[in-house]
Amino acid sequence: MKTDHKRFFVIISLMLLLADALFVTLNYLSDRRTLESTLAAEGRQLQKSFHVALSMTLNNMSQLATFMAGTPEVQRQMAAAQWAVNREGSGAGGPQASLIRERLYNQVSPGWQKMTAEYQVRQLHFHLGPGSTSFLRVHKPEKFGDNMDNLRHMVVDVNRDGQPRQGFELGRVYAGLRGIVPVYNTTGEHRQVGVVEVGTSFRTLIGSLREALGSEVAVLLDEARVDAATWRRPEQPLRFPCGCFVEATSSSELNAVMAARPDRKWSEQPAAGRTLLLDTDQGPVAVTTFGLSDYIGWRDQHTKPVGRVLIWHSASAMLDNLHQQTWSNIFYAVVGFVLIELALYFGIHLALLRLETAVICRTREIQQLNTELEIVAHKDMLTGVYRRGYFMERLAQEVNRCSRESSPLTLLMVDVDHFKKVNDCWGHLAGDQVLTALGKLMRDNCRGYDIVGRYGGEEFCILLPGTALDDGYRVAEGLRERVQSAVVIPGSDNRAITVSIGVASYVALQRTEDWFKATDEALYSAKRAGRNCTRISEVAVEEALAL
Ligand code: GH3
Ligand code: MG
Ligand code: MG
Repeated sequence: MKTDHKRFFVIISLMLLLADALFVTLNYLSDRRTLESTLAAEGRQLQKSFHVALSMTLNNMSQLATFMAGTPEVQRQMAAAQWAVNREGSGAGGPQASLIRERLYNQVSPGWQKMTAEYQVRQLHFHLGPGSTSFLRVHKPEKFGDNMDNLRHMVVDVNRDGQPRQGFELGRVYAGLRGIVPVYNTTGEHRQVGVVEVGTSFRTLIGSLREALGSEVAVLLDEARVDAATWRRPEQPLRFPCGCFVEATSSSELNAVMAARPDRKWSEQPAAGRTLLLDTDQGPVAVTTFGLSDYIGWRDQHTKPVGRVLIWHSASAMLDNLHQQTWSNIFYAVVGFVLIELALYFGIHLALLRLETAVICRTREIQQLNTELEIVAHKDMLTGVYRRGYFMERLAQEVNRCSRESSPLTLLMVDVDHFKKVNDCWGHLAGDQVLTALGKLMRDNCRGYDIVGRYGGEEFCILLPGTALDDGYRVAEGLRERVQSAVVIPGSDNRAITVSIGVASYVALQRTEDWFKATDEALYSAKRAGRNCTRISEVAVEEALAL
């Protein structure tokens, strides 16, 4: 390849490389965007599923509480409890209240067992109103009589307006998902005496969610708010530097997820959900996180979420897929690049080869045409023999060559006899035709390397390379006889044309003018001898004899 073609090849190759790199990068970015939007859509779905499961759990709690509050015996005992506690100094009350508590406990115990077994209920709590005074914790019967106004906002609200409520609230022991239903005294005057609270924990909710979603779930709560509400910290609290407390998690993988972003305060993240791709030490993980509001948050919209929900699953398969796709694209780009490079390389070679062949062919054609043109340019139109100028050039070349090779060279000078008469009697056209016929005859009867030229009007010169004087004479005589027998004047009564010929051979170191002069003299001598004959130059004869 020439430098220009190499440069062209290199530039095209670089452009191809650039296009390949662009193809791979754009595809990677587009695949990555698709992956992220898929994850985001999946995250929104997970968030919805969480809330559906949460409200189903709360509905279950409310239904159980409704059932309990509708039981006449519960209503009777609660009415009695209120009366007794009021009589015995409020709070925990006295012996009467204890008796009623025991009776109520015995009465709801079987139901409580069933609730824990079948509905994973973890709390059955009877409160007396107004406000919230704990009368009986069926799940923890030794604790009672405490005022919970600042903790059980739902209970306080239900005791105030008699409207059942459900929601999630921090508690003394754990955060509960609760249904609160008012209890009425239906025997005497119809009035509300307290509430029934049925609750479960996030642990049961996320357990079933994990099974339904196939993803791990964790509930994180704001550490400060948990500390303010609970009686005591758990033995080994699950806490993170982010300032959050792990209320429940379906997997210990949560540590790895939290460690992947130790700097982030999860509790300060916006309530709206988002999905992130985190690189944990257990592999890549897609984490969906959204804020979690407790009852106060639901009631007073401006309150900040009390915690966050994290739902995560491994993103290895998705990322592997993305990487595989990227490697495939790189492979296609490389294969495409190599194929195009090869095609380009051989294409350029082939094109150049064709071009070179075409150029060689055209050059040959042009050379041929030039040769033909040269010959045409050097030939006399009328007779078809060389013009005088070109004849003289060729003569000079032959003189050189024969001198170098010491080979003989003979010149014939041929003149038409009484040609003027031909013109005068039969016209110039007939004269021209005679000249044409003479030119053809001379060309036809000379060897390929003999040189025939028109020296003047009706005068021809024939150069015979490699021909000595005596052979030249014989050639001249042969020509003369052929002219006489073959060339006639057109329009005449077959009147023959005759020619006179002078012959002289080149003598070493002779000047061309002298050689011509000798030949011309021989021609005149033939004219003087009566025409239609051949004469050898006397000078040439002398020279030949001297040799
Ligand atoms: P000689 O035998 O002594 O050679 O007599 P000649 O008549 O042939 O010689 P001369 O030199 O007197 O006449 C030559 C004539 O040839 C004169 C000229 O008109 C004629 N001529 C020269 N060139 C051409 C030509 O191209 N065509 C024709 N038709 N005539 C030509
Ligand atoms: Mg003449
Ligand atoms: Mg003549």
